[in-house]
Amino acid sequence: MAAGHSDHYDVIVVGAGVVGLSCAWRTAERGLRVLVIERARPGAGASNVAAGMLAPVGEATWGEDRLLDLALESHRLWPRFAEELAAAAGGEIGYLDLGALHVALDRDEAAELRRRFELMRSLDLEADWARPRACRELEPGLGSVTAGVHAPHETAVDPRSLIVALAAAFEAAGGRLEVAEVTAAVLDRERFAGVRTQDGREHRARATVLAAGSWSAAEWLPAEARPSIRPVKGQILTLRGPASEPVCERIVVGERVYLVPREDGRLIVGATIEEQGFDTRITAGGVHELLREAYRALPDVAELELVEANAGLRPTTPDNLPLIGAGEVAGLLLATGHYRNGILLAPVTAERIAEMLESGHPEPVAEVAAR
Ligand SMILES: Cc1cc2nc3c(=O)[nH]c(=O)nc-3n(C[C@H](O)[C@H](O)[C@H](O)COP(=O)(O)OP(=O)(O)OC[C@H]3O[C@@H](n4cnc5c(N)ncnc54)[C@H](O)[C@@H]3O)c2cc1C
Repeated sequence: MAAGHSDHYDVIVVGAGVVGLSCAWRTAERGLRVLVIERARPGAGASNVAAGMLAPVGEATWGEDRLLDLALESHRLWPRFAEELAAAAGGEIGYLDLGALHVALDRDEAAELRRRFELMRSLDLEADWARPRACRELEPGLGSVTAGVHAPHETAVDPRSLIVALAAAFEAAGGRLEVAEVTAAVLDRERFAGVRTQDGREHRARATVLAAGSWSAAEWLPAEARPSIRPVKGQILTLRGPASEPVCERIVVGERVYLVPREDGRLIVGATIEEQGFDTRITAGGVHELLREAYRALPDVAELELVEANAGLRPTTPDNLPLIGAGEVAGLLLATGHYRNGILLAPVTAERIAEMLESGHPEPVAEVAAR
């Protein structure tokens, strides 16, 4: 289409991360005409960097009950989401029933783990206290371990395969994905009517979904439409060894590190949590801390090859709850702010956004959060 001309859709989604693509796929499946606009490539933000843990029990923390409810709901949706996605995309997404073992490696860590375990129990989450011998029976590669908590139902997915599958399923459902940078909002009186891209084109739709991750509070949005989102940096490593001899079989979580095995012999070691604005540099200190803590938990990691070091930006809200639903400007829906759990929360976010887009009655963010 020539510059300056406009095209028309039912829905425009800004951002092809896990959140934007999941919303777009589920909406296109319902028969709506959906355009996704991504400035780089699908997954280029936080999504391709994530470890892919689907771990609501491990993420449970004090004072975040609503987030936990949302996480548990999404965790329940995951098996069907994974199955339908693999069928629609014609490819695997590395969805694995791994379970997780949280380990304490000294007495202070054991005291902290006991506190977390009491919290899990008070919230009725499925987790068992494990003595050192039981821990070693589950994971013989553990170093000196003081105590553990086994959460048998935590799962994981390979985010990069997930992104490839979501893009394929979205296009198979009739959706259109364009590479372009959104640089302006198109407003019709007070209403959001679409977006303009850097190449000068205008794209119009009945509804626009902001799924731009850490870049969701961008200047191209009218000030009143900008959600309160900030980036929280995470550095993460990929190690690799023989697939036939994994150093662990399940997710292993220490106080300052987690390790997620993939079927092909990769081991993901994550992640730092840093307030550094939009900085994504890999630092010696970050890599050192991750390797030191990984080695404390599972000494055999020393034999693995270090194949990647990455850093990503978690889109974060002041209260850590994602923003899902209508924002301050009519015609604009928010699907952003998923912080540490965007992969886990993708199915529930997509379900709610697709439902609102189909019905034409978007619920305000605050109401969705309180459901
Ligand atoms: C180290 C690390 C480990 C993590 N591990 C886990 C985990 O184990 N489990 C879990 O559930 N979550 C995890 N997360 C969190 C998860 O990665 C994020 O919550 C999730 O990826 C957010 O997805 P998103 O689609 O909202 O944002 P993103 O993936 O960042 O996507 C936003 C997209 O919008 C595009 N964009 C932005 N502005 C524009 C524009 N103006 N025009 C066009 N396109 C634009 C960007 O290019 C980007 O592709 C982790 C995150 C990090 C950093």
